[in-house]
Amino acid sequence: QAKRAGRGTYRYYTEALTQAAQVRLQLDTRLRRALARQEFELWYQPLYRLHDRRLIGLEALVRLHQPGLPPVGPAEFIPVLEDTGHIVALGEWVTNEACRQGRAWLDEGLDFGRIAVNISSVEMQRGGTVARVQRALDTHGLAAEYLELEITESGLMQQGDHSEAFLHSLRAMGVQLAIDDFGTGYSSLAHLKRFPVGKLKIDRGFIRDLMTDSADAQLVHAMVAMGRSLGISVLAEGVETEEQMRHLRDIGCEAAQGYFFGRPAPAATARQWLNPAGTEGAGPCSGGTGAT
Ligand code: C2E
Ligand code: MG
Ligand code: MG
Ligand code: MG
Repeated sequence: QAKRAGRGTYRYYTEALTQAAQVRLQLDTRLRRALARQEFELWYQPLYRLHDRRLIGLEALVRLHQPGLPPVGPAEFIPVLEDTGHIVALGEWVTNEACRQGRAWLDEGLDFGRIAVNISSVEMQRGGTVARVQRALDTHGLAAEYLELEITESGLMQQGDHSEAFLHSLRAMGVQLAIDDFGTGYSSLAHLKRFPVGKLKIDRGFIRDLMTDSADAQLVHAMVAMGRSLGISVLAEGVETEEQMRHLRDIGCEAAQGYFFGRPAPAATARQWLNPAGTEGAGPCSGGTGAT
């Protein structure tokens, strides 16, 4: 009896694993093809300063468009690219495309603040990122100040001392640095003081129940206070309601991003959010802007 059940369980797991491996392999094949054929696209989500609702930047978020195939998002395909090492090629494409787009908007006289690009910790670990970023800026004649690089807190913690040197070389180039998904990666005050970062992005997980969960509210309050005392700007991710926006503004959180302000959208849509350079216009921030 037990033996049979055991064998059945074993077979069940083997089949499940085989199936998972197959799905992954199929995705890997799709991703290789997408890299070769340039089937990735950059979408942009607006970042707003809360006290005056001014647009301060756009986060570049990669999308995969392969018509006829089931849609797959970065949360699913980035880990596969990290496993295979192809994340380096994708990161290079993303950085280059963001710099190209930023240059094109500047040439049109449009002000986007900064473009934020996500850098995977695997990319950082594999080396060469600093040179690739410099090359992308040079190729498109974009000043480093227009670029912000986001690295997750957990990624930075995994890389230990290496992270500190990496961040300092990027900072020396003049690019801005942000810690992404902050609050989930167990960094200490000592790390934060050593890292040359200008921004902390509070993870969406703390914002979701901000209005109903007092523990989350207290943690967010503490993160905002900590950022302030370290002179680091704090941005809340995943703001979906006006209530959350007001609360964050009232506790002194500097900036926010989320569906309330605008969903990620293609460059042509993002372009409509931009201010003419040299103006202090407030941007299109009335909530509900953007595509899906
Ligand atoms: P992230 O960097 O933390 O990006 C924010 C994610 O939250 C985006 O998901 C965005 O669409 C989503 N989001 C923004 N506002 C809201 C909101 O109000 N509610 C909800 N529910 N979600 C919101 P997305 O585009 O699916 O990207 C997921 C993750 O994939 C990113 O998280 C980032 O870690 C990674 N990623 C995306 N693009 C790139 C890239 O070009 N390179 C690398 N290395 N990673 C990327
Ligand atoms: Mg990010
Ligand atoms: Mg994040
Ligand atoms: Mg994330």
